[in-house]
Amino acid sequence: MASKLRTCFVCWNLSAFNSNGNRIVRVSFPASCKMRHRTLSSSQNRRPQIKPSAERGLPQNQVEEGDTEVLSNNEDFVESSNDTAAALATNINGAEQAEQLSSRQLEDLLGMIRNAEKNILLLNQARVRALEDLEKILTEKEALQGEINVLEMRLAETDARIKVATQEKIHVELLEGQLEKLRNELAQKESTEGKYVESLDLQNGDSSDANPLSNKDSIHSLTEELNSLRAENAYLKKAIESFKTQIIDVKNNDERLVVLEKERSSLESALKDLQSKLSISQDDVSKLSSLTDECKDLWDKVENLQSLLDKATKQADQAIIVLQQNQDLRKKVDKLEASLEEANIYKLSSDKLQNYNELMQQKIKLLEDRLQKSDEEINSYVQLYQQSVKEFQDTLATLKEESKKRKVDEPVEDMPWEFWSQLLLLIDGWAIEKKISVDDASLLREKVWRRDRRISDTYMACKKQSEDETISAFLRLLSSKTSPGLHVIHIAAEMAPVAKVGGLGDVVSGLGKALQKKGHLVEIVLPKYDCMQYDRVHDLRELDVLISSYFDRQLYKSKIWIGTVEGLPVYFIEPYHPDKFFWRGKFYGEHDDFRRFTFFSRAALEFLLQAGKKPDIIHCHDWQTAFIAPLYWDIYAPKGLNSARICFTCHNFEYQGTAAASELESCGLDSHQQNRHDRMQDNSSHERVNSVKGGIVFSNIVTTVSPTYAQEVRTPEGGHGLHSILATHTKKFIGILNGIDTDAWNPSTDAFLPVQYSATDLQGKTENKQALRRNLGLSSADVRRPLVGCITRLVPQKGVHLIRHAIFLTLELGGQFVLLGSSPVPHIQKEFEGIANSFQNHDNVRLILKYDESLSHAIYAASDMFIIPSIFEPCGLTQMISMRYGGIPIARKTGGLNDSVFDVDDDTIPSQFRNGFTFVNADEQGLSDALVRALNLFKNNPESWKQLVQKVMNIDFSWESSSAQYEDLYIKSVTRARAAKRA
Ligand code: ADP
Repeated sequence: MASKLRTCFVCWNLSAFNSNGNRIVRVSFPASCKMRHRTLSSSQNRRPQIKPSAERGLPQNQVEEGDTEVLSNNEDFVESSNDTAAALATNINGAEQAEQLSSRQLEDLLGMIRNAEKNILLLNQARVRALEDLEKILTEKEALQGEINVLEMRLAETDARIKVATQEKIHVELLEGQLEKLRNELAQKESTEGKYVESLDLQNGDSSDANPLSNKDSIHSLTEELNSLRAENAYLKKAIESFKTQIIDVKNNDERLVVLEKERSSLESALKDLQSKLSISQDDVSKLSSLTDECKDLWDKVENLQSLLDKATKQADQAIIVLQQNQDLRKKVDKLEASLEEANIYKLSSDKLQNYNELMQQKIKLLEDRLQKSDEEINSYVQLYQQSVKEFQDTLATLKEESKKRKVDEPVEDMPWEFWSQLLLLIDGWAIEKKISVDDASLLREKVWRRDRRISDTYMACKKQSEDETISAFLRLLSSKTSPGLHVIHIAAEMAPVAKVGGLGDVVSGLGKALQKKGHLVEIVLPKYDCMQYDRVHDLRELDVLISSYFDRQLYKSKIWIGTVEGLPVYFIEPYHPDKFFWRGKFYGEHDDFRRFTFFSRAALEFLLQAGKKPDIIHCHDWQTAFIAPLYWDIYAPKGLNSARICFTCHNFEYQGTAAASELESCGLDSHQQNRHDRMQDNSSHERVNSVKGGIVFSNIVTTVSPTYAQEVRTPEGGHGLHSILATHTKKFIGILNGIDTDAWNPSTDAFLPVQYSATDLQGKTENKQALRRNLGLSSADVRRPLVGCITRLVPQKGVHLIRHAIFLTLELGGQFVLLGSSPVPHIQKEFEGIANSFQNHDNVRLILKYDESLSHAIYAASDMFIIPSIFEPCGLTQMISMRYGGIPIARKTGGLNDSVFDVDDDTIPSQFRNGFTFVNADEQGLSDALVRALNLFKNNPESWKQLVQKVMNIDFSWESSSAQYEDLYIKSVTRARAAKRA
């Protein structure tokens, strides 16, 4: 904070002078200081702003004081800001020292700036005064110089006159001398002439009159000349006297001039000093600007720290929010009680107050109720917390025990599942080919199961030895038997990625892998379809043995193939039956599906029996393998395959596998026995049997794929005719939400994607969007144009009319739509082909009507939104996959969608769970509302959208917790069975 303010001061161009030397005060901020100035201007609102001194009517020397006042005001602010900064700093260990250090440095800097600013102002003032003085002196000097010049001229004139006067004086003196002489001569002559005249008078009377007259005239003129010269002389003397005084004045002026000259040079040196000081100050100012940059850096750091702190604060706020609410309520109650007390005092004096009192009491009651509720909530949270702490402690204890046990057994951790699965298949092969006994095989299997180091070492050592030598080495290993986990065998019609139509395939591999990770021995039995993705099966090979199983009153041979899929051991059954049950180029949808899968179910059990397997759990899925349950108890348990408990999972109650009761006979089930209301008889037709009903009746554990769907199928509307049988078997029926295989569905490792990405690096998602647009020929012009995806089987359950509506609405609202799907229902397929054709070359819509695994990954990665408008949805995986890839689901609130998608605008749901857009009614209006809300958020609030995307990408949809629930069910069932056996 301090650095924030100081940077502003540095930016100020505090003062300057105009050309007339008048002071102008300016305050200017560079654009780079915008944000920081916001803080300053808020303080300016509260304080008088800095104005030019003229405006404020202050003498110039008071401007600094005014500025200092503002500075000191701001210092208060700096101090309070420093307090805040210090408070912030206490929360951030690493930042603390740096913050304190920078505060001190900044304070020093502030002091320096203030001093520099004062100095600059003083210097400028002095400089102006000096300039003014200098100017005066110069004008004075010029005037004096003029006077001196005049005087000098007059002096020169006077000198010339004096010269002339002197010469005239000399001349006059000469004349006076001559005059004297003439007088003397005249006197002599007069005396001589008298005597002569007297004699002449006596002799010539006329001649004596002429001469005396001419002499008198010349004397007179000479006298006059003499007098004028005397007057001139006197005047000249006076002039000389005045010139002399003037010369003295000039001398005095010269002395003054010297003094002024000295003053001028001293002022000039002072001016030079000031100029050098000014340049030093300017250097200081430039240093300050570099400090400004440092300040900016420091400020950025402070801002970073602040954002970190904000995050931490938000988390803390959330954590204490309930508590605060509670405290608030308590305070309100206290306040109200106080007001009530007050009100009581005045109660008697006023009816109004009485009413008020009653109102208050009601409010208090309400608040107390709320308080109680909130207390209850808190208590329930506390209980939950305590429970989870207990669970955590239990798990910890179990883990400790397990780790102790592991230390003793030392299982091999560093071999891939692939290795153990291959070992299992090797042992099974020997057992099935009768090269080792069933008992030895099961002992060896257990060693593999425990990932025993000795068996892996033996296998490695025997790699180059013959099969007989290897078998002997293995048999030598047989020792004591322990049972570290469960042996679970899944028998199913699908397994991702080798044979997948929908979610069933994902569940079999996802759950299988999760159980395997938990330490259980997991095996899978599948039909060997001709259309499987063989490139995803590792080390596929056929065993040198044929299994004979009963069908249509005779035995049919089946070939057993072994291989690993996703690290799981898989047995593929290939029937040698003339109907070529699994050579149809597709998984389902054949006229004889019922026969195909009754054959497979029987052959699978036959294989387990003949392979000498002793599983703890046989887990069958959907109607195709639901026959396992009645077959197991009716036929195979009596034959010796009796170690197992049967778990049946119905992934969709819409598909129940019904047929004429007589068709059951083919696989050896007694149709009369089974066609009973409490067994396999179909509830809507008494001549038919129902495979799913058989699964429910004959299994020890019955599950479906989400808690909400488990509730829905218990109702007549949702149960597809099976709600009553579910009611009968309600105790063993439970809904467990599916997970997804987070290894297979992982945008940061997905090999199907052109660019991998994660929640922390979403650029890759944009690149995938552009890549998909290029591949499908959609417009890439507007990167931000929202892309809505949909990947689904096109069946009525999925809300096909709403999907169609979504295509047109998205287009109308300026988005792009990509659909990947195919339909087993001809008229739906045809309808969508029509839509696909009409948009064949459209810029913003593309429909791809086929099954395409790699394209599905690309669409998940490219989509901003994903629609799942199902009429009903047992679990649904696409919403979870889409979220894992950063696509926001727009889903109808039904079944598993209701358990996994929570509306961002639904205040009744805690905000941390909100992850998508939902709608209740399965109509166009409902979908439109959700789609419009999603598109609006996308367009109008990109930052919130990004946060939502990152949030959903981080949700844990793995099998971790769901597989634990299955594990729990298995263990309980097995334990009950063992206890019953012992009893
Ligand atoms: P359901 O099992 O009812 O078909 P889910 O949502 O449980 O529906 O599972 C659908 C699974 O099938 C998802 O993994 C989805 O990606 C995949 N899927 C559906 N249709 C296609 C298709 N046309 N191409 C590729 N994958 C598809």
